[in-house]
Amino acid sequence: MNEPAYAELVREHGRERVVKAIRTQIAAERQNGANEETRREAVAARLRAEVAPRLRRVINATGVILHTNLGRSPLSRAAIEALSVAAGYSNVELDLETGKRGERASLIEGLLRSLFGGEAALAVNNNAAAVLLALTALAKGKEVVVSRGQLVEIGGSFRMPDVMRLSGARMVEVGTTNRTRASDYEQAISPRTGALLRVHTSNYRVTGFTEAASLAEMASIARKHGIQLIDDLGSGATERVGDEPTVAESVPLSDVVTFSGDKLLGGPQAGIVIGRAEPVRKMARHPLARAVRIDKLTLAALEATLRQRLTGHADVLPVERMLLAPAAEMRRRAAFWAVKLADRGVETELLEDSSAVGGGSLPGHPVPTVLLAVKGPASRLTAALRNGVPPVIARVENDTCCLDPRTVLKGEDEELVDAVEVAAAAVRRR
Ligand SMILES: *Cc1c(COP(=O)(O)O)cnc(C)c1O
Repeated sequence: MNEPAYAELVREHGRERVVKAIRTQIAAERQNGANEETRREAVAARLRAEVAPRLRRVINATGVILHTNLGRSPLSRAAIEALSVAAGYSNVELDLETGKRGERASLIEGLLRSLFGGEAALAVNNNAAAVLLALTALAKGKEVVVSRGQLVEIGGSFRMPDVMRLSGARMVEVGTTNRTRASDYEQAISPRTGALLRVHTSNYRVTGFTEAASLAEMASIARKHGIQLIDDLGSGATERVGDEPTVAESVPLSDVVTFSGDKLLGGPQAGIVIGRAEPVRKMARHPLARAVRIDKLTLAALEATLRQRLTGHADVLPVERMLLAPAAEMRRRAAFWAVKLADRGVETELLEDSSAVGGGSLPGHPVPTVLLAVKGPASRLTAALRNGVPPVIARVENDTCCLDPRTVLKGEDEELVDAVEVAAAAVRRR
């Protein structure tokens, strides 16, 4: 500690942390053999690693637009700017006209209703929270009827039967895995029934001998029996893509519709609730609503995203742009990378393939793309790219390291080419 070589580390990291790092280093040397020559460097590296940012920007070259591991939807420039407004003091719960306390939800309720219709709207932490809140506030202690074909697991621990149990509602399963008819719902209704629930089968597809009651049929049953119809849309498509159900179609039929803010909507992580005034207000007033409320940063980014959609500027949302970009544009970018890399001695070829939307959206709706395949050992190349600066996340197709331009953001092309050059050189050296 008293050697001059450590004085600088003490200034930078504080005495206590340096002492701890030296102890850890000496303990390691006892096991692996001491090397006093390199000890200071090893201690410095330990200290640096401890405070290095863990959350880092990565280049997404997987082609998966809503990649759950990479944060799903990237935000638009306007949404990013809105984050910095909310980072300071803002009128998040102040009505500037009257000077009275305002509702944070009211800042975006109008936008949501203009975009999707409905009598009332609410935004919460994420869609899992929206579903849990809907079931808890509207059906606790009652029965909720759901098709056996829709008992989804979204990932992690979001499994419909578990969410149902947590909410205090009793799940009543009807139909079979592949076929559920309107009459199945009708027959399950009893005086204890509180709601019918439709869950969008976001991340899988049942094909072949299938049948599902339409939302319109479910709505007429719910109305006839005076119970709620809750529709968990998952992704919340704003326009028709493939056969993904859209928000606008669901809102007139359902009492409550829920979907994610960071799937096809292209905004920040959030859960959006739209529906009839009474059930939505009941959800907003429930104590659980406070526990799952949207935070001010998210609210700001969501507001900006919704405004862009409402004013016809959806095409500037990264998710929207990626989804709609034609294969010809992907070919141009991949070819541009290939030429640059050839100049630097890296051999590649172009491959026609498809990008996946991901994030439990549009399964079975691949988007045609053109990949840049990098010659060489795939697993070593992808690892080298992942460990580069910035990390590049590639995908492996047919044992080849491939880069999909679809999800590489504007302005990242040069960085990507540099990263591939560095990774290819590292793999060659080994
Ligand atoms: C994605 C999804 C959820 C969970 O939404 P989060 O915003 O990730 O919490 C719930 N239900 C369905 C049908 C989904 O697709």
